[in-house]
Amino acid sequence: MKVLVINCGSSSLKYQLLDMDGEKLLAVGLVDRIGIDRSMLTHEKVGNEFKYKLGVPMKDHKEAIGHVLATLVDAEQGVIKDMSEIGAVGHRVVHAGEKYSASVVIDDDVIKALEECTELAPLHNPPNLLGINACKELMPTTPMVGVFDTAFHQTMHPDAFMYALPYAYYEKYGVRRYGFHGTSHKYVANIAADMLGKPIEQTKIITCHLGNGGSVTAINGGKSIDTSMGFTPLEGLIMGTRAGDIDSAIVGFVQGKEGLKTKEMMDILNKKSGLLGISGISSDNRDIREAAEQGQPRAQLALKMFSRKVKFYIGAYMAMLNGADAIVFTAGIGENDVNMRREICANLYHLGIKLDDESNDTRGDATVISAPDSKVKLFLIPTNEELMIARDTIELVDAKK
Ligand code: ADP
Repeated sequence: MKVLVINCGSSSLKYQLLDMDGEKLLAVGLVDRIGIDRSMLTHEKVGNEFKYKLGVPMKDHKEAIGHVLATLVDAEQGVIKDMSEIGAVGHRVVHAGEKYSASVVIDDDVIKALEECTELAPLHNPPNLLGINACKELMPTTPMVGVFDTAFHQTMHPDAFMYALPYAYYEKYGVRRYGFHGTSHKYVANIAADMLGKPIEQTKIITCHLGNGGSVTAINGGKSIDTSMGFTPLEGLIMGTRAGDIDSAIVGFVQGKEGLKTKEMMDILNKKSGLLGISGISSDNRDIREAAEQGQPRAQLALKMFSRKVKFYIGAYMAMLNGADAIVFTAGIGENDVNMRREICANLYHLGIKLDDESNDTRGDATVISAPDSKVKLFLIPTNEELMIARDTIELVDAKK
């Protein structure tokens, strides 16, 4: 069966078409600037050297998905003859609140439940829903599955997910830790268990997803028991533009000093902080690494703060798990930044963590990067959220047949 995976942002849309007989990627693409001027579809037929670009106005997600489908069946750029070859669509959805602890086949009740979660993820769930509704209109008979970032973390216990605020805020408004990047944490943890040669039920694994956004998760027996992102994806690690953990009293203090409205303050915490805020250069780790190498002190500080925070969570989760079998590095920074992995793992011998500098000097493929005498295995494992979404999608669609 061929599965179309859709990941909708507010003005963008990423897609992949996979042939799940053999888990082969057929095409991958991106639509940018949906609903604004200069909308652009960039499509890559796997195996083709050149990327196809289509610059036509796309006023909403339905028009964008219409162009994606037309491109997928196009005589030259396409990879399928007819839309009916798409057996199912898998949608990445950010927030499912406490409603779903696993992926589900999307029906009207699911759409309603996701609409109810919009308040918890105002930036993410509305575009996810636009994508779902657009596909429903354009492919009314094709089954769709929702795969949620929050689902994997629903196994956390209340002592891990509650905040020490008046209990009523949890009951009335759902204020609690939800956690995100669940699809990625779950995917790499399963590969790590294979690399350990053990059933996942018998493993203790810490997964570090370090991309533009980042989170660390403690996984016991395949179940998330704690994670660094919280009520929203703002908590935890220092990220490209997000502050991560700060003393919450700073929020009111800075608002008062600068005369900022709540929305403006939230924008600063989400979009102007993190690596960008500290370095004053960029939110992109590569730019900061380059500036740090040229001696820019704030770029050096930003990198030190980043690695320190990851180390902090590794230490915390080693304690929560009572030791770990493996620590996994994944996503843009985790997979590619050899120096960052070295800085994170430095001086952790007392926890049984010892990096092998030679094996660490690598990018890309799943690799063991710990020294032979490291008690805790260290793994570099490329994430693949789209494959995970496609797997869940066929599993659920096949089960319904
Ligand atoms: P997203 O959360 O947007 O999916 P990614 O997982 O693609 O993010 O990660 C993006 C981050 O990875 C950026 O900060 C980027 O600089 C960093 N990155 C990508 N490639 C490299 C590299 N070769 N060396 C260092 N950092 C890298």
